[in-house]
Amino acid sequence: MRRITTDCTGCGACAEVCPVKAIHPTGDKYLIVEEECTNCGQCDDICPVEAIETE
Ligand code: SF4
Ligand code: SF4
Repeated sequence: MRRITTDCTGCGACAEVCPVKAIHPTGDKYLIVEEECTNCGQCDDICPVEAIETE
C-alpha cells in the first residue's frame, strides 16, 4: 500500500492524477484511502517532494 508522509505540502497534484479518486484533502495535507487505492503508483510518480511511501 501507499501512504502520504508529513512531507506533504498539500499541493494536490496526486489527487488530480489518481484514477480512482482515492486521495482526499485532510486539513493542509492529503490522505490516501487504503480501501480505494489500487496501488497504481501514479501519485508516487508525480509528487514533487516525494512524500508518498510504499509500505
Ligand atoms: S503530490 Fe505530494 S505534496 Fe502534493 S498533495 Fe500529493 S503527497 Fe502532498
Ligand atoms: S497508487 Fe494510484 S490508486 Fe493509489 S492513491 Fe496513488 S494514484 Fe491513487
